[in-house]
Amino acid sequence: MGATTFPRVGGHPAFDLVDTVHWRLDDARAIDTLPDFGAVLEWCTEIGLIADPGIVRATPRTAAAEHAAIIALREAVYEAVFEDSPDAVALIAREHVDALRRSSLERGDDRWQWHPPADVTGPRAAIALLAHDLLTSDLRAARQCGDDACGWVYLDTSPRHNRIWCTAAGCGNRNRVKRHHARSRV
Ligand SMILES: [Zn+2]
Repeated sequence: MGATTFPRVGGHPAFDLVDTVHWRLDDARAIDTLPDFGAVLEWCTEIGLIADPGIVRATPRTAAAEHAAIIALREAVYEAVFEDSPDAVALIAREHVDALRRSSLERGDDRWQWHPPADVTGPRAAIALLAHDLLTSDLRAARQCGDDACGWVYLDTSPRHNRIWCTAAGCGNRNRVKRHHARSRV
């Protein structure tokens, strides 16, 4: 897989994580691009959460458990933001506290930053920190793509706050064509 495997339309890495599910709103077409822990490590590396995935050593059993917990976190982000699910918020809160307990505060170039543990639990900790960061930020711009099936989510930072599609070239273009054909059939 190349460097452009995963979509980056979310405007926040926690939304980019949610967007690793394609066609979320259509059960028949839905694709999870994070089918295993290896894919999660690729995603983490691509967005810069982990510098060196080679340091993450895991037994198959631990990897499966971490993968399941990370997918639960991803779905919790979606359900917390778009469905106001108390269970989802509680899960993120638990994972966040747990992540902080295992992380260390280290000096960066211009600030102190939380560093997740450099072990198999690191990706989950890093993602929990991201999820918390998103949830405690201004969510008024949180949107879901206007396509019937796409389901990608993003922060609408457009000047007029009128972004309807995940991407103009993808869902925007496809839906414009669909509408044009629907009109011309009348
Ligand atoms: Zn879309």
